[in-house]
Amino acid sequence: MALAKDANNQDDQQDKLLELPRALSVRQLADALNVTPIDVIKELMRRGIMANINQVIDYDVASAVASELGFETRPQPISSQAVSVISEIKRQQKAIGEAASLKTRPPVVTIMGHVDHGKTRLLDAIRKANVMDSEAGGITQHIGAYQVKINDQKITFLDTPGHEAFTAMRARGARVTDITVLVVAADDGVMPQTLEAIDHARAAGVPIIVAVNKIDKVGANPDYVKQQLADSDLLCEEWGGDTICVHTSAIEGKGVPELLENILLVAEMEDLKADVTLLARGVVIEARLDKSRGPLATVLVHDGCLRLDDNIAAGVTWGRVRAMFDNAGRRMRKANPSTPVAVLGLHGIPEVGDTVAAFNTEQEARSFAQHRARETDKDSQTVSLSNLYDQIKEGEVQELGIVLKVDVQGSLDPIRSSLEKLSTEKVRVNIIRAGAGNVTESDVMLAMASKGLVIAFNTGISAGAQKLADSEKIDIRLYRIIYELIEDVEKALKGMLAPEVVEVVEGLCEVRAVFPSGKRNKVAGVYVTEGTVTRDAQARVKRDEKVIAQTAVISLKRFKDDVRSVSAGYECGIDLKDFNDLQTGDVIELFRKQKVK
Ligand code: GDP
Repeated sequence: MALAKDANNQDDQQDKLLELPRALSVRQLADALNVTPIDVIKELMRRGIMANINQVIDYDVASAVASELGFETRPQPISSQAVSVISEIKRQQKAIGEAASLKTRPPVVTIMGHVDHGKTRLLDAIRKANVMDSEAGGITQHIGAYQVKINDQKITFLDTPGHEAFTAMRARGARVTDITVLVVAADDGVMPQTLEAIDHARAAGVPIIVAVNKIDKVGANPDYVKQQLADSDLLCEEWGGDTICVHTSAIEGKGVPELLENILLVAEMEDLKADVTLLARGVVIEARLDKSRGPLATVLVHDGCLRLDDNIAAGVTWGRVRAMFDNAGRRMRKANPSTPVAVLGLHGIPEVGDTVAAFNTEQEARSFAQHRARETDKDSQTVSLSNLYDQIKEGEVQELGIVLKVDVQGSLDPIRSSLEKLSTEKVRVNIIRAGAGNVTESDVMLAMASKGLVIAFNTGISAGAQKLADSEKIDIRLYRIIYELIEDVEKALKGMLAPEVVEVVEGLCEVRAVFPSGKRNKVAGVYVTEGTVTRDAQARVKRDEKVIAQTAVISLKRFKDDVRSVSAGYECGIDLKDFNDLQTGDVIELFRKQKVK
C-alpha cells in the first residue's frame, strides 16, 4: 500500500498533504502521520471509536484523525497516466493476440496454507464438483493435477498442496502457478506457514485469493482472520482492499462454487493467453518410473499444443509421445494450454520443474536435451555476497533478494530499512522475507527460488536448512553486529568485499601411540586415515568429538626422515606447535585456509 507524501510540494503547509487509500489499518495511518499508533488510537477514542492497532478504518475516519493532527489529506487517485498506460498495453496485447492466434487459457491454481487448515480437504471438495470425471466414469488417477469445469470454463489445480512444491518448481525457473488460493482455518487464524505462503506467492508475483475455511466450526472467527491478514498487508475487498476472501467449509462443500467463480474472475483480470498453433512448451509437475510402461511424466502444457507422436525434450531427457492420459485415465490425442497430461515415451525420468519442449524432429529434441545437459551447471549459478559484484557486472543480477532472519522482532525494522537504503541504480535490494527466529528450510527454499541469499542476525540455523543450503549452494551469512552486516552487503554491492576465507580439510589422522622425546617433549605416532598430511598444514585436535586444540604442524617424520607429506594408509610421527598433550585415540584434522573470490 502506498502512503505517499506529496513529493512535489515545497512549502511547509503543503508538505503535510497526504494521500490515503480507501481503507488502512491504525498502524499504517500512524506510520503515514509519523506518530505512534497510541496517538491515533487516542484520537479515535475521542471520536467514540474503540480500535486496536490492526483495526482497519476507512478514508473518512482516517482523514478526520489526520486533520486533527495537522495534516491535509486526499484520497489516493488511480493515476490517469497509469490508466492510459494500461489501456495502451491491453490494446497492444490484443493486436498481437489477434495476429498470433492467442487464445484464453485456463488458470493454473496452487493451494497453499498452514498444515491442517484444510488444503487437501478443499482440493477434494473441488474435485467432487468436477463434472469432467463423472462424465467419463473413469477412475481418478493421481497425476499431480486435475481440471474442473464450471460454466464451460476450465480451471487446473495442482494437487500437491503447500508451498514446498510450488517453490521447488520456481527454484528451477518454472513459473507454473497463475493464482494462489491461501487457505486459512477460521478457528485457528494466521499461522507461520500462512505467512510463509504469502511470502512465497508474493515473491513469485502470483495473485492470492483467500479461502477462510472451516467456517462451519464452533469458534470460527473469520473477521479475526481478516484482521490478521490485514496486518500482513492482505486487505480484503470488503474492507477496501483488493484481496478476494471467500468463506468455505471444505467438509460441507460450502463456498466452493463461489471460490471457483472468483478464481475465474481473477483469471480474467490476469488475461491469461496462449497460442495453440505453436509446438508445445510446458513443465514437468510429476515423474516416476512405471514398472510396466516405463518413464511416466506429467506435463503441464503452458503454451502451444502437445500432440501424440510429438518429439519432446524434458529436462535432459527426450523421447516421442507414445501415449497421453488425463487424470481420469482417458487416452488423449492432444493437450491444449494449461492441461495436465501423463506422458509415456521419454527415455529417462525428468525432474519436477524441468521444462518440456516439442520439436519437429527427434534429432532436434535430442540435441536440445543434450545441450541442456551441458548447460545445467552454468545455469545453477547462485548469488552469494562474494560473487554478487561479478554477476552485477555481467548484468545477471538486477535485484538482490534477501531473506532476513533476526533474533528479536525489534532488530527487524532498523536492519531492514538500512538494507533497503543500499539499493543502487543497478541493483535493488529486495527483502523477500523478514522475520524473527532460526533460519529454516523454508527460508533457504525461498532464497533459492528468488535467486537470493539468507542473512541471519544473532540467530541460529536449523540443521535441515544448513544441509539444504550446502547442497544448493545458497549463501547463509551470519552476523552479530548490525554495522558489519550492513557494511558487508554494501561492499558486496560495490564489489569491494574482501575475499572470503574458507577452510579446506586436507587430511585426517588418528593418534596410535605417544612417545617421549627429550625431557619434556612428546611425539605422536599417527595413522593417516584420509587425504594427506603436509608439514605446513593447520591442525585441529579432537578428543571425543570435541576440539581441544587448534595449532599448526611443525614436523613430520617417516621413520627418522623429515618428510613433506604423508598420504592416507601410512603411519608417521607428527609434532604440533605449542601443543604437547596428544593422547592415543585423538583425531587430528589437517586443513588449510584458502581465499575465495
Ligand atoms: P491440510 O493439512 O491443510 O491438507 O488439511 P486437511 O485437508 O488434511 O484437513 C485437516 C483436518 O481438518 C481434517 O481432519 C479435515 O477433516 C478437517 N477439515 C478440513 N476442512 C474442514 C472444514 O471446512 N470444516 C471442518 N469442520 N473441518 C475441516
